[in-house]
Amino acid sequence: MARKVIIAGNWKMNKSGSEGKALVEDLKGRVAGYNDVDIVVCPPFTTLAAVVKAAEGSNIKVGAQNVHWADNGAFTGEISAGMLKEAGVEYAIIGHSERRQYFGETDETVNKRLKAALAAGLKPIVCIGELLDEREGGKTEAVLAKQIKAGFAGLTSADMNKIVIAYEPVWAIGTGKTATPEMAEETHAYIRKAIAGLFDGTTAEAVRIQYGGSMKADNAAELVKQPDIDGGLIGGASLKADSFADLIKNASSK
Ligand code: PEP
Repeated sequence: MARKVIIAGNWKMNKSGSEGKALVEDLKGRVAGYNDVDIVVCPPFTTLAAVVKAAEGSNIKVGAQNVHWADNGAFTGEISAGMLKEAGVEYAIIGHSERRQYFGETDETVNKRLKAALAAGLKPIVCIGELLDEREGGKTEAVLAKQIKAGFAGLTSADMNKIVIAYEPVWAIGTGKTATPEMAEETHAYIRKAIAGLFDGTTAEAVRIQYGGSMKADNAAELVKQPDIDGGLIGGASLKADSFADLIKNASSK
């Protein structure tokens, strides 16, 4: 089955409103017509409005980097799915390894955020991945199986059709170390098998699984050529219009 490639840029805590606007205005011209790729940028919350406006009428979609599970209430510093929807946001990254590492995110909170995002009509990008010592200890599959089972608990196949999974080996994020295409493919195939086990084969075949971890213009084509790799979640290389556009072009089949 043909799954549309999705390339999403995670800007993390970078880019003010004016910088984000300038990046998207530049990017728009560079990637116009690359409609075989879903292109997403995920700026910080305070930059969302400027970026949503700059992306209007283009093939660039906007995502948030997190979403809270409650609709509203006493959750100082948090943003709800409804608020993001109203701001024109279409996607939301959930469970990024930096949130797991620095902000106490767990598979259980991922699951709660995911359900709230789906209920509001956002498209979740759910991050999973193993640490270096887990990879070296031969625990990668067990770690991913646990993240998948707990993170996707209580969801239906119809829910899974709206979700993108980002496989990000934590040891490859921001380190310049990329999993080889073969290594990444092996793990993506395992993730698809795990989804088939939890749901069914059709759901597993349809779900898009991005690779993330030091993906750049020069390794993108080789990665997305793998049968189970359907795009990328990009940190560093998404912060400049030229490098991000080159990556998108190399991931495109145009
Ligand atoms: C990320 O933060 O999701 C990521 C993959 O970062 P980088 O591309 O910089 O490794």
